[in-house]
Amino acid sequence: MVRYVSTRNAKTAVSSHEAVIAGLAPDGGLYTPLLNEDIHVDPAGLLNCSYKEQAAKIISVLFDDYSEEQIRQCAEKAYDAKFAADDIVPLRKFGGGWLMELWHGPTSAFKDIALTILPHLLTAAYQMDHRNDTVAILTATSGDTGKAALSGFADVANTAITVFYPEVGVSKIQKRQMQTSTGNNVEVIAVKGNFDDCQKMVKEAVSSPLVKKACRNVTISSANSINIGRLVPQIVYYYHAYSELVNSGVIACGEEINFSVPTGNFGDILAGYLARCLGLPVGRLICASNKNHVLTDFIRTGTYDIKRPFHTTMSPSMDILVSSNLERLLFMLSGNDDTLISNLMTRLKENGVYTVSEDMQKKIASLFSAYWTDEEECAETIRSLYDKDRILIDPHTAVGLSAMYRYQEESGDHRPCVVLSTASPYKFSGDVYRSLGNEKEDDDWQAMQKLHDLTSVEIPENLSGLYDLPVRFTRSINIEDGMKAIAAKMEELSHD
Ligand SMILES: *Cc1c(COP(=O)(O)O)cnc(C)c1O
Repeated sequence: MVRYVSTRNAKTAVSSHEAVIAGLAPDGGLYTPLLNEDIHVDPAGLLNCSYKEQAAKIISVLFDDYSEEQIRQCAEKAYDAKFAADDIVPLRKFGGGWLMELWHGPTSAFKDIALTILPHLLTAAYQMDHRNDTVAILTATSGDTGKAALSGFADVANTAITVFYPEVGVSKIQKRQMQTSTGNNVEVIAVKGNFDDCQKMVKEAVSSPLVKKACRNVTISSANSINIGRLVPQIVYYYHAYSELVNSGVIACGEEINFSVPTGNFGDILAGYLARCLGLPVGRLICASNKNHVLTDFIRTGTYDIKRPFHTTMSPSMDILVSSNLERLLFMLSGNDDTLISNLMTRLKENGVYTVSEDMQKKIASLFSAYWTDEEECAETIRSLYDKDRILIDPHTAVGLSAMYRYQEESGDHRPCVVLSTASPYKFSGDVYRSLGNEKEDDDWQAMQKLHDLTSVEIPENLSGLYDLPVRFTRSINIEDGMKAIAAKMEELSHD
């Protein structure tokens, strides 16, 4: 069986379903699978499978304490007509490579891929353990996770979900999406702080005595990518893109391809690394950042330094300084050195900076390349792709595309490259409209209509109907009141 250990204490191992229930490990570390050559997925065996079948096969290999039938049912329930594309994640050719459109799900962001299946994985895990407590899902969001999690968990039995988002920082459409969420088990709270404050709050709750005291038959879990149940389903689309390129004759099975990934919490790109570990022929993983380029600097120098100004940008889901999942990469590359990871994370917490060994930095640089893009270049990238190929992309995707161009120019590596397209351009209508060279339109709803009039690109249904829905959630709290608010919520959910 595949064992999952905490990045900060590798001695206590749990099975996958236990890791999915827990979210974060009790010591604050992240559950990470112990991989070896026997844990392998051959891409050749997936070439003629539907997305659902690929998902069932790949997830079963890593979540092997679930039955194959259980996983198959989870995939069936997740990847259905909720997605506006038949093959779930269509691959779209453009002049310089391929865009993998991960945003045809119910909330128009790539988070839907994992958050449509996570509630089912969690429910199945609960059934295995015959538990009757309530799972309280605490989720921090930089914009997209929140809505995708609210949508995935709405009215799922024995769960309740609370989402914390930064009051200033998410796009107006993202905010509206969250505030209009439906379901009797959902709550949305704005925090007077940034994403890092929200994420810290959620992580702290797991070990807070105040919160612990308030929980009676309530288990706290997370829908953030700190939950391994988020990451594993994201491996699937790397394989999917690969099969598509083999099936269309672009590459022979076995040839390597590159991926460029707009990165915030390092979850999406880590899934690409996990795919590589499982045997997918991945060449370079290009880590793309915006003006908050702490990861670019780290990958290039080996020093992770968050003592820097925090910028709000038009790619808000990447406005992050503490990238949680990097911890998993460092753990894996260090040969599961939990002591090292504990030390690095303590240094980060206390000093806001750490440096890895030269050996580790070299390992990272042999797998990943990193680039960052400022706001102006992001806008230019959106405009030039539209001008050349009549394809509309969102600012996050533009950051990924611009990194791909930079990488190709600098390295001369022109192997086929897939850019992960992570959100519908309509989620960021105002900025996309302006990027195309138009007057700024402050009203996002107007911008959506104008963008549509200009380009005739279809508006996803969940977004076009957004402004007809009633606003349900307007609560906002100070950072220092976080633990109290969470404890009160746990009290409310407690039962005998
Ligand atoms: C979350 C998100 C990202 C970053 O993904 P990570 O897994 O946090 O690195 C990029 N683009 C969009 C649109 C997102 O919602």
